[in-house]
Amino acid sequence: MYKKYLEKYEHLKDWERIGIGEQLRRWAGKYPDKTAFIAESGELTYSEFDAETDKAARGFLQLGLKTGDKVVLQMPNVMAYPVTLFALYKIGVIPILALYAHREKEVRSMISLTGAVAYIVPEKFQGYDFVALAKKMQSEFDSLKYVIVDGDGGDVKLSDIKSEEGELPEVDGYSNAHLLLSGGSTGIPKLIPRTHTDYIYNMVKCAERCRMTEDDVYLVALSGEHNFPLCCPGILGTLRAGGTVVLCKNSSPDEILDLITEYGVTVTALVPTMALMCISLFENDDYYDLSSLRLLQVGGAMLQDAQADEIMAKYPCKLNQVYGTTEGLMFITEVDDTDDVIKSCQGRPIDDATEIRIVDENGNDVPEGEYGEVICRGPFTIDGYFEAPEANKTSFNEEGFYLTGDKAMRDKENRYRLAGRVKEQINRAGEKIMPSEVEELLCKNERIIDAAVVGIDDDMLGQKICACIIYKEGAAELKYKELIDFLSSEGLGSYKMPDEVRMMTEFPLTNMNKVNKVELKKMIENE
Ligand code: AMP
Repeated sequence: MYKKYLEKYEHLKDWERIGIGEQLRRWAGKYPDKTAFIAESGELTYSEFDAETDKAARGFLQLGLKTGDKVVLQMPNVMAYPVTLFALYKIGVIPILALYAHREKEVRSMISLTGAVAYIVPEKFQGYDFVALAKKMQSEFDSLKYVIVDGDGGDVKLSDIKSEEGELPEVDGYSNAHLLLSGGSTGIPKLIPRTHTDYIYNMVKCAERCRMTEDDVYLVALSGEHNFPLCCPGILGTLRAGGTVVLCKNSSPDEILDLITEYGVTVTALVPTMALMCISLFENDDYYDLSSLRLLQVGGAMLQDAQADEIMAKYPCKLNQVYGTTEGLMFITEVDDTDDVIKSCQGRPIDDATEIRIVDENGNDVPEGEYGEVICRGPFTIDGYFEAPEANKTSFNEEGFYLTGDKAMRDKENRYRLAGRVKEQINRAGEKIMPSEVEELLCKNERIIDAAVVGIDDDMLGQKICACIIYKEGAAELKYKELIDFLSSEGLGSYKMPDEVRMMTEFPLTNMNKVNKVELKKMIENE
């Protein structure tokens, strides 16, 4: 982000030009003896965490890292992850937050785009040999001076990077804090440069919306490098409030439920699939105790109405719908919204300073209550991807609005309801169909647990509609006619009826855990 762009927002409350590392110092000063982090390996209080990150920050400087250097950080949710992350924030070294699900293709593109000087990895995680990947990258890129491993096998051991001596530099709040990865529906992720100042501002607004307090225990269930568990309000929002962050290493439903039970978790963030998967587990096992939960945040992908109903009926807490983009823009429901409101929308914008428009394909505003593409410009939405001139031409308009590609409508209460991606729209013989509409109805069927609808190329129609369906365990597959009759009974227009149906046991997912529709389409077309 450019300084000039950020200066426009200096009048905002909670807008501060200081680094995230400095923020941590303040939080540690306020809550020194409270538990900041709980991980498999142990616990750290705020003052211990602050001290650990200071030591690691000095160690990184001694190793030769300098303010402005880029480093690929790819770690599971273990204690070394936040310690390393905050150490890098404290010296203005810019981590590229790779997910542990990223592999050679994605990591290669991150290094080649940024000239990263170091790559920080676990030794092995979930059976994958990260050291081998890191060594391979090192043989390809001269820029990559250090392979740093949380374990053995690298140039340097992460646990050896610490020092009691040395001054830490002052970090400008308007400098780049980290490079996050864009969700996208496929392919190589684009890099999202967020500054210290805008990221903290974004977090403060999420934390206020979710009413985070010192009593909150937040579970990092999704990969901690993702924007959702990092900032919405996530790790940062919990630390600001003086709460406790619990790290869930493998992100499996049983581990999530175990940790909620063991540590009295009050808030966590899940994608819809994960939230639904947990239900079948805790319904069948009395050991799990979810009574401490006050807020279950669900976001990152479409939550169908029937799925929202299921979650609201089964979890003993409020559902908190979150629509978020790592690029910035966010909507979140209010803690005291009624269930009917929560079910019907993804909430209101988290701040007043963001300009949000809903436009048609010509860029003109649509009337209230009608669907269009959401575009926005504001204090914490980026004005361009990192080193991506081509993508920037298509993702931002001339006035600097970010074109989300998401389809939504705004009601008179300033609440937003998402309806999938603009680009996902299927064009069948000139008729436009939003897959999300068909998916939502399919999920209402009592035998169906999840559905993904894609447009398949067709000589006659241009595209035909293919519905891919996952059935509930033990449920019998619907015959084609039964399915069409069901959709008709739900009122679906005849031109929106699936031309083809596929039964599946799982969908291909992107690294961000969204249904990879491009891959799904390819699978069907290659059959
Ligand atoms: P990411 O940057 O990975 O968080 O992905 C952002 C994208 O995920 C958005 O542009 C939407 O397409 C999608 N998304 C996020 N939250 C929701 C939601 N609650 N409902 C529907 N789509 C969502």
